[in-house]
Amino acid sequence: MAIIGIDLGTTNSLACACRDGKMVLIPNPLGEFLTPSAVSVGEDGSIYVGAVAKERLVTHPGVSVASFKRFMGTGRVFCLEGQSFTPQELSSFILRQLREDAERFLGEEVTEAVISVPAYFNDNQRYATKQAGKLAGIHVERLVNEPSAAALSASRISGREEGCYLIFDFGGGTLDVSVVDYFDNVIEIIAVSGDNRLGGDDFDRLIAEKFCETRGMVYDELEAGERAELLRLAEKCKRGLTVQKQAEFIYGAGGEAFHLTNVELAEMGQKIFERIGQVVSGALSDSGRTIEEIDEVVLVGGSAKMPAITFYLQAYLGKKPCVIGSPDEIVAVGAGIYAGIKERREEIKDLVLTDICPFTLGTNVVNYSDRSNPVMSPVIERNTILPSSRTRTYTNSYDGQAHISIGIYQGESYYCSENIELGRIEMDILPKKKGEACFSVTFTYDINGILEVEVADLQQNKKLWKTLTSGSVRVSEEEIEERIKEMRDYKLMPPGGIRTMLVQARGERLFRQFLGRRREAVAAVMEQFQRALLETQNDQQIIKLAKEAEAAFDALEG
Ligand code: AMP
Repeated sequence: MAIIGIDLGTTNSLACACRDGKMVLIPNPLGEFLTPSAVSVGEDGSIYVGAVAKERLVTHPGVSVASFKRFMGTGRVFCLEGQSFTPQELSSFILRQLREDAERFLGEEVTEAVISVPAYFNDNQRYATKQAGKLAGIHVERLVNEPSAAALSASRISGREEGCYLIFDFGGGTLDVSVVDYFDNVIEIIAVSGDNRLGGDDFDRLIAEKFCETRGMVYDELEAGERAELLRLAEKCKRGLTVQKQAEFIYGAGGEAFHLTNVELAEMGQKIFERIGQVVSGALSDSGRTIEEIDEVVLVGGSAKMPAITFYLQAYLGKKPCVIGSPDEIVAVGAGIYAGIKERREEIKDLVLTDICPFTLGTNVVNYSDRSNPVMSPVIERNTILPSSRTRTYTNSYDGQAHISIGIYQGESYYCSENIELGRIEMDILPKKKGEACFSVTFTYDINGILEVEVADLQQNKKLWKTLTSGSVRVSEEEIEERIKEMRDYKLMPPGGIRTMLVQARGERLFRQFLGRRREAVAAVMEQFQRALLETQNDQQIIKLAKEAEAAFDALEG
């Protein structure tokens, strides 16, 4: 029985296991490590996960979905083919796929996983992630913060046992910067900062807009389909700039090639870089460290591969960021190392993991200018190292007050109403003159995200407490068991035919996208592929045919 590490990403997910002291990435049936975090429901109710589902986002948008990690822990429901799924249910399909891939690859049953989550994930989001594991038939005892996993991975790969790391995680739509200490086998996140509306997608849009500008077109006036095609070409061009100084693309039949260099992209991206700079300085200043005290700047996430990003960070920080391993894989490898520790594999030393509380937890105090709108009194502040227990004392706010209502809030806003209310404790107190009553509020927050709140009336020696495990998205154990059974009825597509399905799905997407000669060419490739399939049962031959069709599609996509 194996325990694996999983990076359950917004765009892509991947799994890693520890074998003979080495970290092994798990390939999916296509032989790739990255599985797109996309889900699609087929007409017969079967579930497509990964590359095929990603293609179907274009051809079958009503029954396909991606980026649902953004909605974890919210009440959002996705309706696909008349069936409703929560984000954790959709995530469970990804986890199940990764688990099945791992079982096939390792030749062992996978019963448990360590899953990485963004450091800023709140209680509900963490709970939803664990539920996703449960629904996928995987026990998830431990979640690890992505920056901790990245730091662990970086330290192992670089051979630097100890150090202070700045983890720069730049994905498609989010930027997360964390400062992480790794000393004496203790990993500690010192500070986190981020912008969840900033990522590689902004560069795609920038390139698309620049293209329109040079062609006298207005990006916002393009039709949805035209915009999608232009963005796809822009993204490809951006990736091209990772491996070469100049890249180009042609939009529309007979169009002129649009050229772009890394230097031009860097100039165009000034506003994006400014925002990146703000997040990086925020993390550094919250951590109380200077850049000289940072041993390594570690690049994580697909967009961190962009040379323009490396140049910018080097200039901004005065320190060359290092690429330790692949930015796409570093978190999964870290989660795999944690999984190895859990399995108590001898090859890995025991590690103490500490986490930080990524958000502020507090209670309400009276707002004298508007009593109906209480303000937040922080008890445990964001970036506090966990486990943590803090007490604050409060007093009555008016003469003869006989009752207090202690709200428990999470968030950084001044007004409680703008933060998330996690719970409430009601307590009767002895009526006294304003300012003479005295009661304490203690928050104890442990490493598994369980918050205990105790309210004590110090004069009456009376105590009340609450353990917060319930919230808007919580469901009872019975409901979960019921849903687990239902989820088992959904069949994931078998691994055997996945390559064929991918050719089919991609062909359908291209047929929809192209017009004229290229559309005819797609149809011809599809027809030829389908005819050839009828003539063979040989797996190797099928793979060869699929690769040929893929190459033909690559050439057509340009
Ligand atoms: P992630 O969420 O970490 O998978 O990152 C996805 C983002 O990384 C998307 O915006 C991709 O366009 C971008 N990306 C992936 N690979 C590359 C690359 N080789 N060069 C530039 N950007 C990339």
